[in-house]
Amino acid sequence: MSNQDAALSNLQNLRVAIIGYGSQGRAHALNLRDSAVDVVVGVRAGGPSADKARADGLTVVSPEEAARQGDIVAVLTPDMVQAELYSSVIEPNIKKGALLLFAHGFNVHFGTIKPRADLDVALVAPKGPGALVRREYEQGKGVPSLIAVHQNKSGKARDLALGYCAGIGGTRGGVIDTSFAEETETDLFGEQAVLCGGATELVMMGFETLVEAGYQPEVAYFECLHELKLIVDLLYEGGIARMHQFISDTAQYGDLTRGPRVVNEDTRARMREVLAEIRDGRFAREWVAEHKAGNKRFHELREKDMAHPIEVVGRKLRAQMSWLKTDATA
Ligand code: NAD
Ligand code: MG
Repeated sequence: MSNQDAALSNLQNLRVAIIGYGSQGRAHALNLRDSAVDVVVGVRAGGPSADKARADGLTVVSPEEAARQGDIVAVLTPDMVQAELYSSVIEPNIKKGALLLFAHGFNVHFGTIKPRADLDVALVAPKGPGALVRREYEQGKGVPSLIAVHQNKSGKARDLALGYCAGIGGTRGGVIDTSFAEETETDLFGEQAVLCGGATELVMMGFETLVEAGYQPEVAYFECLHELKLIVDLLYEGGIARMHQFISDTAQYGDLTRGPRVVNEDTRARMREVLAEIRDGRFAREWVAEHKAGNKRFHELREKDMAHPIEVVGRKLRAQMSWLKTDATA
């Protein structure tokens, strides 16, 4: 028996309830079903997610009913609605001793969800978006995943989480044991400082610098945004070494001498600040308060980003790139 099958056998005779049918929810539900696990999807009646899940051939019930039926209840709604969902829908209905499962530790780690003492609580976090979790699974592969246990009432929480991870294909990609604290804090830091916040600010500031100096926005777009994919693909495939193999000597010399001037010790100090705000809960408190106040500032900031000249020229240029699908996230 493979490790995959051994882990999957931990789910025998158990029903998995997936609450939320978005990016992760859909991928997890379909992969588990295709791994012969007994799955129900809990979504609000009449919504678009319910239709989609039914069209995908899954059993759809209300979130309340899913919480009642699941031996494992996976909470795969947006993080900001999970606290209210837990207190009003999950806690009043979930079976005694069930496993409450998350794909990100935000609410449990920052205390906005305090799970009932009789429950097991674990996390299975695939390191990729739902579409990739599904695609890799369909190709017989899997996305590397983090596993953590917060509460282990039954003594079997990790085995069950590992079974779930196998069911979504995660064990084929490699499993890393972690804690809710490590998963949550590093995930937030990565997206804020490097992947989303850091990368987009770097791209936009580079674009602004060229345009302000009189260069054409179209040319600046290619140099600062479009070609980033080439570099990221090389980094992904073989790290910094592979990038060095493929770029010119001139690019390498420029990288080694100018890169550290652009991203410098001051940037490191800012990164440490951002990390400190994550660790002491300031970021979480700010974001939860923003959400509760109706997301006004969040929406304003997002609109400002969307109106940036790089977006205007980008939309025009991408319309001419026949190889780009219009729905790149699907
Ligand atoms: P999503 O926004 O794609 O999907 C959320 C789904 O939740 C919706 O489709 C809807 O069906 C449902 N929903 C929304 N509000 C609800 C409510 N009030 N009550 C009941 N159902 C509701 O979310 P996602 O990106 O799949 O994120 C789900 C979890 O997975 C989060 O904890 C997130 O941090 C984590 N995660 C996401 C990614 C990713 O790349 N998207 C990667 C790893 C982990
Ligand atoms: Mg940004």
